[in-house]
Amino acid sequence: MLFSNINEEEFELYEEFIRSGTLCVEIRLKNRGHRCVDCGTFHTNVKEYRTKTIRHSIYASQPCTILYHQRRFICPKCGKTCMETNPFISDNTRISDQTIENILTDLKRYNNCHILLLYFRYSYYNIREKNS
Ligand SMILES: [Zn+2]
Repeated sequence: MLFSNINEEEFELYEEFIRSGTLCVEIRLKNRGHRCVDCGTFHTNVKEYRTKTIRHSIYASQPCTILYHQRRFICPKCGKTCMETNPFISDNTRISDQTIENILTDLKRYNNCHILLLYFRYSYYNIREKNS
C-alpha cells in the first residue's frame, strides 16, 4: 500500500520504476473539479500540470519518491488559476505528510534521532558537513 491515508481510487498510477536504487512512482489525482476562489464557479478545466518530486519514505528497505503531476486549474469564467490541493504534502515541502508522521511516531517510540537519520539515509557526518 503506497498511502495509508489515501484510498487507491483517489489517484491514478502511471508508472513505477527504479532510478538509482530509488523506487519512483508517477501519480496523478483523479480530477474531481475545483471551486474558483474568486468567483465561486465549480469547474474541471486544467491549464497545465507540474511535476512535484516528493520524498515518501514509507519502506525501511527501499527509498521511494513520488512524482506527483499536480494540476493547475483555470476558471472558465474569470480566468483565475489555482493549484490543485492534495493529500500528499503541505505547502512548500518536499517530504510527504505520511513520511513526517511516520518519523515523528518512531521518534516518540524510540526517542532516538538515529531513526530520523535512517529514514533520510544520512549519516551524522553528512549533516555536520551541511551545517558547517
Ligand atoms: Zn473564477
